[in-house]
Amino acid sequence: LPVVPLRETQAAETDDDRAPLPHPLAALRVLARQALGIADADLIDLKVFKRSFDARQAELRAVYIVDVSLRDPTLAQTLLQQHAGNPHIVPTPDMAYQLVATAPADLPLRPVVVGFGPCGMFAALTLAQMGFKPIVLERGRKVRERTKDTWGLWRKQVLNPESNVQFGEGGAGTFSDGKLWSQIKDPRHLGRRVMSEFVNFGAPPEILVEAHPHIGTFKLVKVVENLRERIIALGGEIRFEQRVMDVDLTTARQVRGLTVLEQATGLTYELRADQVILALGHSARDTFAMLHQRGVTLLAKPFSVGFRVEHPQSVIDRALWGRHAGNSVLGAAAYKLVHHASNGRAVYSFCMCPGGMVVAATSEPGRVVTNGMSQYSRNERNANAGLVVGIEPVDYPQDAATFIEAFGPLAGMQYAQEALYLRAADALAVHPLAGINLQRQLEANAFVLGGSNYEAPAQLVEEFVHGIPSASLGSVVPSYQPGVKLGDLHSALPDYAITALREALPAFGKKIKGFDMPDAVLTGVETRTSSPLRMPRGDDFQSTNTAGLYPGGEGAGYAGGILSAAVDGIKLAEALARQVVDF
Ligand code: FAD
Repeated sequence: LPVVPLRETQAAETDDDRAPLPHPLAALRVLARQALGIADADLIDLKVFKRSFDARQAELRAVYIVDVSLRDPTLAQTLLQQHAGNPHIVPTPDMAYQLVATAPADLPLRPVVVGFGPCGMFAALTLAQMGFKPIVLERGRKVRERTKDTWGLWRKQVLNPESNVQFGEGGAGTFSDGKLWSQIKDPRHLGRRVMSEFVNFGAPPEILVEAHPHIGTFKLVKVVENLRERIIALGGEIRFEQRVMDVDLTTARQVRGLTVLEQATGLTYELRADQVILALGHSARDTFAMLHQRGVTLLAKPFSVGFRVEHPQSVIDRALWGRHAGNSVLGAAAYKLVHHASNGRAVYSFCMCPGGMVVAATSEPGRVVTNGMSQYSRNERNANAGLVVGIEPVDYPQDAATFIEAFGPLAGMQYAQEALYLRAADALAVHPLAGINLQRQLEANAFVLGGSNYEAPAQLVEEFVHGIPSASLGSVVPSYQPGVKLGDLHSALPDYAITALREALPAFGKKIKGFDMPDAVLTGVETRTSSPLRMPRGDDFQSTNTAGLYPGGEGAGYAGGILSAAVDGIKLAEALARQVVDF
């Protein structure tokens, strides 16, 4: 339907309780009836399932997917037969979620969930809904306190290594754009279940309708708090500022318990547990090292490194929406870009945040990491996105010096030796923790390039492409707090990544006019794009060599984003419940 400005009364004329639409439902009913060839009396209900906009034509159009209920069920069958082969007229799938089990009354030990990011939250919620009364252990602080700690780095250059953008209630995506879509295969519609729960816990209802929903950071904070309260009301327990330091295994490699550090007192305690979900996120480097020490199978996996790029949002809006730029129904434009560089590397945009800001996202002292976030309104001046280059385990440094730099002398020597043994058996073998070497090296280097005070090193796009150090900003004011230090970014990443990015930027300028504008700003480094390792698991979702450990979410290599991590959390809870109930 063409989008025309509506009076408020018309826009509100939706008879369901979801988003106000840019069209009255009556107009959609007419279109639906025409498409199906039915009379008005046959159509008893119409609900909008999805809505997107098509800005490619001179006229801005809204595109709807609607669910209709018909007066006579046999009419539905007839219509489906008549329209067989038409991909736009299909039966509405059943998306209702059914819990897979009920907890036994005599459960000897409560299941434990480590980490309260999207994966841990949905694992704990699903377990609690099934009556399992899980215990959640989260190393960071409650979301409100965590917000203050996070701002402490952004405003005062003081990092709390246990409470920051990566660690704390809500997990890594709490200070984010809160994009809520994913390209995972989802035949059971678990993503829909996640979205519905988000709405139950206070997210704006339009996330159920929009084709590319996002929730923004402030609204996410409230959702996380409400979700926590629900788990507690169902008998779950959430222990904040409690870091898992060790796992206790039987000789048959069955989990028997955890050693937990209570951050407030500095004391540790043992928690008996035989079913443990590990929803650690990609930044729990100390915990990965501990799991490796305990012999839990971990494998190095590819991830990506790069910079954040910032443009005026108006440049992106104009390039993507032409004459429709600035139309309030469209909001701020988003983009997705890929370039296959001639050196064989793929460069792509990552976690694009329209109308947002670049944030300091380190969890370790003496390191600088960038990422992006926005508010629900997405109305900040700049658009930002990671511009990252895919790297493979063979690229990870494995020499003794880098292991020692990353893990200290004792563990570092041990890992360097292990890497030597591995390579003696297979020349291409990569130590599972070697990706962390590269991340730590790049992040520490960025800290120094930024002036060793948590400012981020930065360079203007044209000067980066031509290898000229930047000395002053142009029209784009970078949003990174606590600030940026202009200079030369060529030493901030491996040469192959710099070469690929220098080639990609002008190529992106051909796809989005102005993308390679001279004074767009690059800030670095973007290293926490996904986990540098994987924790392989079997069909029963347990670690392939350790019974009772259920690794999942982004840290284990099974998700890449809020929605997919939450979906994985549901699957972990189901697998754990089945194991306990069937046992
Ligand atoms: P996490 O969210 O990382 O949660 C892991 C939790 O485990 C943390 O809270 C951590 O404190 C805890 N933990 C770790 N080790 C221990 C231990 N030893 N003991 C106890 N607790 C521990 N994704 C999107 O889909 N959309 C976006 O817009 C988006 N924007 C982002 C913006 C930023 C700034 C960042 C950093 C990420 C963003 N992401 C976004 C990615 C998204 O946040 C992650 O994919 C997602 O949070 C992964 O969920 P997870 O539960 O697997 O891990």
